[in-house]
Amino acid sequence: MLEAMGEFDLIARYFSRPTQKALLGVGDDCALLQPRSGTQLAISCDMLVAGRHFLDDVSPIRLGHKALAVNLSDLAACGAKPLAFTLALSLPRIDAPWLEGFSNGLLQLADRHGCELIGGDTTAGPLNICITVFGEVEGQPLLRSGAKPGDDIYVSGHLGDARLALGALLGQRALPADLLEQARMRLECPEPRVALGLALRGLASAAIDLSDGLIGDLGHVLRASGVGATLQTKALGSLLQARIHPQWPQLSAQIKVLDEVLSGGDDYELLFTAPAQHRDAVTGAAAASQTLVTRIGHIDAHAGLRLIDPHGGLVQPTQTSFDHFRAA
Ligand code: ADP
Ligand code: MG
Repeated sequence: MLEAMGEFDLIARYFSRPTQKALLGVGDDCALLQPRSGTQLAISCDMLVAGRHFLDDVSPIRLGHKALAVNLSDLAACGAKPLAFTLALSLPRIDAPWLEGFSNGLLQLADRHGCELIGGDTTAGPLNICITVFGEVEGQPLLRSGAKPGDDIYVSGHLGDARLALGALLGQRALPADLLEQARMRLECPEPRVALGLALRGLASAAIDLSDGLIGDLGHVLRASGVGATLQTKALGSLLQARIHPQWPQLSAQIKVLDEVLSGGDDYELLFTAPAQHRDAVTGAAAASQTLVTRIGHIDAHAGLRLIDPHGGLVQPTQTSFDHFRAA
């Protein structure tokens, strides 16, 4: 019976669900969305390619989660509330257990954020997942271009652990089993900071989500805003969660904390700026959204990025960010 499952059975079985927010979901030539009056649609698209964005043996549940999480992270960065998404899927074969896991991981995260699957496309081919997400912005969206000299710079959550896991999975380093599992969750199951993004509207002057590493992504904010930045290495060092592991003293000899935090990709945390007079309000937004937020530096009028150690000395980063076309 499963062998006989075709494209339309597959869509009906794994990807068709009733919608509440959308006027029309899966089943016709188009889905229909009716944005509420006074709101703007925020739209973002992210593609995940096997061997490039994920390892072939990743669990389908986690892959389904991550495929949507990276898109919700873009909505979070704009201060948008998730509404709906489409799913374009290229599959080498119809593998029922894989589809079961993938759709469960995907739809559980979708349900948690009230984001409805309203359509897509399904084809045979190399494993490739492309999601377009639609969100609703009330009032001003958060953008990369609003950072002003004197603003504080913050990041949510922890940074660098996803890249630690990737290094271990690629055999470049060994990690204790419990630490690997914890770091692997960061790589394979990122939690999009949607509630924080919503709470920052009206407080943050600029925001971006961190997918390609802090240095590169902060660079986008600096260029879009026409400003520079100074970061404190002490605050940055605290962001790697692996540092609280009991075996950290032995591990620290082979792990360069600052490189992992500054250049590791796949963190899906928010980086944002806010005027200093909003410090208490930012703390309140972090508490209300139950998200760790760390102040890591400030925006300068002078272009470029400077790293300052606890003694006031300039530090030179050894690595920059990830670029798909520059990576080997
Ligand atoms: P068309 O050929 O008219 O573009 P399709 O035959 O590709 O339509 O798809 C039929 C319906 O199923 C459409 O509503 C489409 O949006 C939906 N659909 C196709 N693939 C998926 C998928 N992977 N997830 C969700 N909906 C899908
Ligand atoms: Mg059509």
